[in-house]
Amino acid sequence: MAAHLIDGKALALSIREQIGKDVAQLAEQANVTPGLAAILVGEDPASAIYVKNKKAACGKAGIYADENKLPASTSQSELLALIDKMNADPKIHGILVQLPLPKHIDSKVILEAVSPEKDVDGFHPYNVGRLVAADPVFVACTPKGVMKMIESIGQPIEGKRAVIIGRSNIVGKPVALLLMHANATVTVCHSRTKDLPTVCREADIVVAAIGRANFVTRDMIKEGAIVIDVGINRLEDGRLVGDVDFEGAKEQAGWITPVPGGVGPMTIAMLLQNTLESAKRFANK
Ligand code: NAD
Repeated sequence: MAAHLIDGKALALSIREQIGKDVAQLAEQANVTPGLAAILVGEDPASAIYVKNKKAACGKAGIYADENKLPASTSQSELLALIDKMNADPKIHGILVQLPLPKHIDSKVILEAVSPEKDVDGFHPYNVGRLVAADPVFVACTPKGVMKMIESIGQPIEGKRAVIIGRSNIVGKPVALLLMHANATVTVCHSRTKDLPTVCREADIVVAAIGRANFVTRDMIKEGAIVIDVGINRLEDGRLVGDVDFEGAKEQAGWITPVPGGVGPMTIAMLLQNTLESAKRFANK
């Protein structure tokens, strides 16, 4: 049986359309335009494309985007000064520092300098703590997008067995917390997990966030499972694939996300959502 496709592109588009309407309403009712400051340090081509796409998405939704491109030679104190400026700018409700940063800059120091009230990426320890305590303010965009995709199926999450492959701070751990808060029974697997295929086969929900092309194969998936592929891997022939062997897995899964066109577009939609939510909180102050 071929799995149902969870079309992240279509879902993200409908969410972005709604955000556009909400942005217009906020401008009309409270005279507030949500504003996002994106900070890019250096010349990393992938990062430049990410920032360009995020800026374009803001524009389409009516969100003000302030793009700050800094040379790779920017010092940590110069970057901190810019973040301070954005923290104090009333036109800005969200600050995004595109990672990775050049090696001479300490990412931890930078992410902690972003005001937790404008931390639309949800990476500040304050927001991580709020998520752990099941009382989140900003939820990181990719994990939030993963949850929206699972919820879009319309099946209860409560009581399901969920297996997350990958334990990174930006994907694996927050996804595990969100699924736990939704009353799934969660197992987090990682590079030291023993007999991962057996653990994986028990899962009603599999979230793959590893960064290894086609790692999750058909034989690791329980029949009818929900399979969410966060991975983005570039093959030698230039093709973009996920962490799940899509062709094999779709014959076994009940629902599956494609790469590209799955989690990626949802991440951008959630960034816009977080910026809008932040602007609403500032407007209500
Ligand atoms: P990471 O490198 O920080 O973490 C990878 C995790 O995979 C680690 O916890 C590691 O323990 C685990 N792992 C590695 N090898 C393994 C193995 N053999 N068996 C089991 N676990 C193993 O990566 P990340 O930042 O979490 O990103 C993961 C993937 O998701 C990457 O491909 C990345 O590009 C992609 N990603 C996509 C989006 C999006 O918007 N779609 C956002 C963030 C990350």
